[in-house]
Amino acid sequence: MRHRRIALLSSPTSYRTPAFLAAAERLKLEVIHIVDTPEALAREWRRPEAIDFSQSEAAAARIVELVRERPVDAVVPVDDSATLLAALVASRLGLPHNDPDAALAARDKLRMRERLHAHGVPVPRFRPYPAAIDPRSIAQEIEYPCVVKPTLLSGSRGVIRADHPSEFVAAFERVRRIIASDGGDLERAVILVERFVPGFEVALEGLLTEGQLQVLALFDKPDPLDGPFFEETIYVTPSRLTETTQKAVAECAGRAAAALGLRTGPIHAELRVNDQGPWLIEVAGRSIGGLCSTILEFGTGMTLEELILTHAIGEPITSFERRGEAVGVMMIPIPRSGILRRVEGIEEARTVPGILGIEITAKLNHPLVPLPEGASYLGFIFARARTPAEVEEALRAAHRQLVFRITPEIRLQPVTAMRP
Ligand code: ADP
Ligand code: CA
Repeated sequence: MRHRRIALLSSPTSYRTPAFLAAAERLKLEVIHIVDTPEALAREWRRPEAIDFSQSEAAAARIVELVRERPVDAVVPVDDSATLLAALVASRLGLPHNDPDAALAARDKLRMRERLHAHGVPVPRFRPYPAAIDPRSIAQEIEYPCVVKPTLLSGSRGVIRADHPSEFVAAFERVRRIIASDGGDLERAVILVERFVPGFEVALEGLLTEGQLQVLALFDKPDPLDGPFFEETIYVTPSRLTETTQKAVAECAGRAAAALGLRTGPIHAELRVNDQGPWLIEVAGRSIGGLCSTILEFGTGMTLEELILTHAIGEPITSFERRGEAVGVMMIPIPRSGILRRVEGIEEARTVPGILGIEITAKLNHPLVPLPEGASYLGFIFARARTPAEVEEALRAAHRQLVFRITPEIRLQPVTAMRP
């Protein structure tokens, strides 16, 4: 095989980067690793690979310039922050790419709902409201139960269920504060309100080739996700849904990708299934997040990232079959806010049969912020066993061994006039 080179685009802190770099090394691909860096820092560093992704047009032009001398076979985004830029760059280089518009729609929940609805993909009834509106003035017209959410955040941040008008008013105001604390402009921001879709949730990991979807793994999320907040916890594959339902899920995810205009590369879709069939919650033009991909292996031992990179450079893939037994991962939820002092029981948890590993990713002596405001997990537990049920049980048993010592955070308040 001739010498191959890729441009890998990532944020500076993505959990996903090491897995992609390791995959490139095993595949003997040379990597130009381009890292999202705020303009001021990028100028100071003068490293050509430090580029501000938020200025997507200028960033695309710089990357095209950068690879002129060192041509690449593919432009691979590691996470959501890079999908738009990767699409822009690949289109200018004449490489297979997603429509930049599709990359945008996959990141903006309102655009996504509009496109999916327009293409007949089953989505809950939805309506955008200006973030600045007084929620009391609309609380009576909402259909309950509903879900209130920001359009541009991720990781379930700010996603809140409300069952009646007073919960709605509180949820709306809370989402507004979350958008503001994230730097959003409340005069222009939109808050999405949609019907709550009851049902069982799954996540589909897939790979698109010229618009055709190949399912790589379908994960069940066996913990009920009924709100008011929607913390991700357990993912287990293979799915325990019937063949027929799994087919319907895959078909729905494929239609959703097509509706958005995603045509190439990985997708990660979330769907809910109830007696009316699958409903599309979200589809992203990237692979599964966090450290979750660690548990996946394909064909003769390829990692998910090796599969994605092989596909990106247009090499044939010998097998999309997932190898081995049932596997699962638990994203360890944050039980309460405070300062994480210590984690006990890790050794005991590791000895639970079926447990492959435990990674605590939260930093000790740092504040923990639970949902809906927070944006991270305590860490990950990985498991493998004969059946999905055994995987789920192993994850729960290991989690029960863990004790998180969290002390209250003492916030220093600015002194204001004391009341008499
Ligand atoms: P994010 O991009 O932050 O992950 P999502 O829209 O995917 O936001 O919502 C996060 C989770 O909240 C979903 O995985 C699902 O469990 C729940 N959720 C979101 N919208 C709905 C809805 N309309 N009905 C039921 N559950 C929902
Ligand atoms: Ca989601």
